[in-house]
This record gives sequence, structure tokens and C-alpha cells, in this order.
Amino acid sequence: MAAALGLSPSGSNPVWVRVPPPILNTMKKALPILPLTDKDHHRFWKKVQKRRWNQCWIWIGKKSRYGLFYLSGGGYVGAHRASYTIATGHDPGEMQVCHTCDNPLCVNPRHLWLGTDLDNIADMDKKGRRINKGATGEKNVHAKLTQKQVNRIRYLRDTKNYTYYKLAGMFDVSFVTIHHIVTGKTWRT
Ligand SMILES: [Zn+2]
Repeated sequence: MAAALGLSPSGSNPVWVRVPPPILNTMKKALPILPLTDKDHHRFWKKVQKRRWNQCWIWIGKKSRYGLFYLSGGGYVGAHRASYTIATGHDPGEMQVCHTCDNPLCVNPRHLWLGTDLDNIADMDKKGRRINKGATGEKNVHAKLTQKQVNRIRYLRDTKNYTYYKLAGMFDVSFVTIHHIVTGKTWRT
């Protein structure tokens, strides 16, 4: 949901309200990215300035705010979305592909993640789940994080791109919780 100038439901004074982004939600559906051929992959990577594995890889082809990749079937998609699809084999469909690096032109798949992760966390917060010291793992009904999120935290930490503090902010838990998850004190799998 993006903030946009709109009319409040009850009056005629313009106020800032949250409205769905029209391009994503009403004007058209996300173009299917798959299938991609070897030729498409080749075409894609020719437009990418690759650097070290953990640095931002910059799209040097056509762009607006994001890089734009032309599908052989016609139409442009976000280059970061195409990169996510190439890396995972999964088309993001209606989901958002987000950047951990906040660099819209970056297409390094290690810096990309599906928007649904955040939705999950927001959902967890809404339900008021908290870490309970008495139990370990997902069996603890008060656990704030799911096993999937814990795996994700460990994976991100393994990439060495994330400090404990950054992960704590991303998952809205404490530094100590992240430390325990990474060192296996709270979560055992
Ligand atoms: Zn990046």
C-alpha cells in the first residue's frame, strides 16, 4: 500500500490516505516471467555489471526507477524480478521482490527477497507472539518467529552481508534473539 493524496471517505477535504498502487492492483496483472530460455539468461547477464559476490550488481540496460528487462514474449519486467526468477526458478507473480540493499538497480539475487516475508512478520506482530524462555523451537506457541523465518535468518547471516543488528531490525526482534538463533541457543533444528 502506498500513500497518495486522496479524498477522505467522510468529507471533501483532501487528506493523505493509504491507497493501493494502481499499476500493481487494478491496471494490469504482473507479466509472467517464465519460461526463460538460455538465450534469455545470456541476454539478461550481458546487461549486468557484476562485482564481488556480496556486492550490488548493477543493471546497465534500459531502466526507469528499476532496471527493465525485455521478455522475449513481449513486454518489460523489473530486472530485479527477472533476476529473482532466474536465481530461484520461481516467478514472483503478484508478490513483490524487495531489496535488502535499498538499491533499485541492483540485481544481485543475494540482495533480493519476496515481499511476503515481511507480510508474515507483520502478521506475527499483529498476533502479539513473543519469545518464551520456557520452550525451544516452533513448538513453543509463543514463539514470535516461525521455523521458516529462523532458517531465513541463519541463511542471511551465512551470506555475511548482515550484522546481528541489521537482522534484528529486519525481523523486529532483539539483538540477543538473533544471537541466540545464529548460535543455536534458542532454536534447535
Ligand atoms: Zn544490492
